[in-house]
Amino acid sequence: MLKSEHQQLLQTYFGYDSFRSGQEEIIESVLAGYHTAGIMPTGGGKSICYQIPALIFSGITLVISPLISLMKDQVDALHQNGISATFLNSSLSANEAAERLVGIKAGIYKLVYIAPERLELPHFLHQLSELDISFVAIDEAHCISQWGHDFRPSYLKIKTLLQEIPQNPVVLALTATATPIVKEDICRTLDIKLDHQFSTGFARNNLTFSVLKDENRAQFLMRYLEKNQSESGIIYASTRKDVDRISQKLTNSGIKAGRYHAGMNEEERTRQQEGFLKDDITVMVATSAFGMGIDKSNVRFVLHYQTPKNMESYYQEAGRAGRDGLDSECVLLYSPQDLHIQRFFIDQSQGTDEWKDQELQKLNQMKDYCFTEGCLQAFILRYFGEENPEDCGHCENCKDNRVEMDVTTESQMVLSCMIRMGERFGKTLISQVLTGSKVKKIEEFGFQKLTTYGILSAKSAKHVADFIDYLTAQQFIEITGGQYPVLKVSDTGKEVLLGKRKVMKKELKKVQTITTVDSGLFEMLRQTRKEIAQNEKVPPFIIFSDATLKDMAAKLPVTVSQMLTVKGVGEQKQDRYGDRFLQTIAKYLEDNPEAELEKPIVMEGKKQTKKEATYLETYRLYKEGNSTGEIASIRGLSKITIENHLVTCEEEGLNIEWDMFLPKEKLELIYQAIESIGTDKLKPIKENLPEDISYFMIKLALLKMGQTNA
Ligand code: ADP
Ligand code: MG
Repeated sequence: MLKSEHQQLLQTYFGYDSFRSGQEEIIESVLAGYHTAGIMPTGGGKSICYQIPALIFSGITLVISPLISLMKDQVDALHQNGISATFLNSSLSANEAAERLVGIKAGIYKLVYIAPERLELPHFLHQLSELDISFVAIDEAHCISQWGHDFRPSYLKIKTLLQEIPQNPVVLALTATATPIVKEDICRTLDIKLDHQFSTGFARNNLTFSVLKDENRAQFLMRYLEKNQSESGIIYASTRKDVDRISQKLTNSGIKAGRYHAGMNEEERTRQQEGFLKDDITVMVATSAFGMGIDKSNVRFVLHYQTPKNMESYYQEAGRAGRDGLDSECVLLYSPQDLHIQRFFIDQSQGTDEWKDQELQKLNQMKDYCFTEGCLQAFILRYFGEENPEDCGHCENCKDNRVEMDVTTESQMVLSCMIRMGERFGKTLISQVLTGSKVKKIEEFGFQKLTTYGILSAKSAKHVADFIDYLTAQQFIEITGGQYPVLKVSDTGKEVLLGKRKVMKKELKKVQTITTVDSGLFEMLRQTRKEIAQNEKVPPFIIFSDATLKDMAAKLPVTVSQMLTVKGVGEQKQDRYGDRFLQTIAKYLEDNPEAELEKPIVMEGKKQTKKEATYLETYRLYKEGNSTGEIASIRGLSKITIENHLVTCEEEGLNIEWDMFLPKEKLELIYQAIESIGTDKLKPIKENLPEDISYFMIKLALLKMGQTNA
């Protein structure tokens, strides 16, 4: 199949082989010269919608984007892909900005990112009018509308800007959160016709939504993080105080937590944000001040500690999870108290009555979300104006993960232990006895002799204490005494002991293990990525996304052309980093040879980059007459890597004398094995051959066979 020019650019620069829904339509509309609007969910791939046209337009592409940190990352990411770009914003000194402008005027940048605030400076507008601007892309375009939740007055200046630019550039407005009113507002302001408005819907199929209503939040949070703390996540809390408190608590329990709110000074905020982007901080606790600039693609969960004020805010914040398309979770912890507080804020605000009504209505819809029994994703989609959205099939309502468990036996153990201890103690000591703790107090009372001592030693004391809370809430246990509460078995509790009553417990929603670490290799690849990122001084996800590393771990590329088939590996990145990752994979395969046997042998190769590639260096050394072992030690690479380079050489049409590696009689043996076993997997072939025939030899044989059959 013939690839279009756009597809070619997508492959070469970004390493993807097909467009996502909406991307191509938007790109074509823009290139045909129409003002265009693109509404795509977060992570839908909006950036590429202006980056590819930018490569095609003769002049400069101006990108208006609201946050400085976002800009820097976007520009860094473009550099990584071999595209020249720069940005202008308040983080630059006047001198730096002037220098950049010179470069921009000289036409050395395809893309120039600017903050909307710059547009407020009349002399800046004037400078822009002297540039050859073909195309203006407006990211987060909902900021242009006063109906949006993030209205920014300086976005209104975009109109003035467009009038000032003599070339009449094409305009593209992009956003992920636009209710029908907001969308209309954007399109009217920017004069975008209905035919050129593209919406791919808001559904985020890789996100699993849930609302938890009857949880002890603090306990839930700790349990959740116990399972998920190695993954990147954001916890949103309403107030600065909560943020400080929660982040402190997490830090104390050894979690790499950061914090972010508007009460911190800018330097500290930047430091925290960078730490998060670099994966030094895994869990960020923040108010809603944290976010607009977060393009971090590998956020695996977003947990709302409190209910936010409206659905737009919620979906935008929750939507920061899973931009890379991998499964991620959005959990909202609801409490009625949250709504009182939000209502109070609205009442106390300076807004007009009309505005207050509107906000209260939005708050009610937020509440409806928390209480809907239908699909949560569908609720959100309806809110954003989609008609008859389908159920997602995997949110908490679509799939009730809670299982009702019979916990009668465990309850009897607790209750009977309480009676044996004389019903004179609180839950701490009771749970210590049950879990067989060695604390002094137990010995003093001789409780280590009780038959119930250590009967629940498989559980943690904390788990048992939580369970006692549950039994108390269910009134199987009564609390008496003030300052030092004493627990007693209630009448219904006694019925449980006598076996007259069952105790059921809906296991608190099972935290899904969202961990993406499915192999040691993924970890190794992450480590390699981290090292490179530190060297290059960019966040790891800018080198490669988690999705790319996962694809790598699945495809196990060992040659350059195979590496290029990995999603997200374009030519530039292959040239820069491909080898490092190939080495990591080679090392992994050396220690885990069986891993390679599971992967498909036939892997479609992409066109190899024309630029100087590393296998050519290996080829040169090979031509000089060095053995693979010698080349490996000269180049400081593993033998497997070198062997794979040679396979690449062969694939690329360079001449290799294979007889040197694969004597005729061995080739014969391999062919015989292949004849009786087939070529689906390497492992059985290897197992049917003498020890001294290596995988490399088998691969060579297959390669030869392919050539003679072709
Ligand atoms: P948005 O701005 O819409 O939230 P981004 O432009 O940041 O999304 O893209 C999200 C992720 O999707 C990025 O990692 C990007 O590289 C990836 N992506 C974009 N287009 C494609 C595509 N056609 N195929 C695969 N991945 C893509
Ligand atoms: Mg974006």
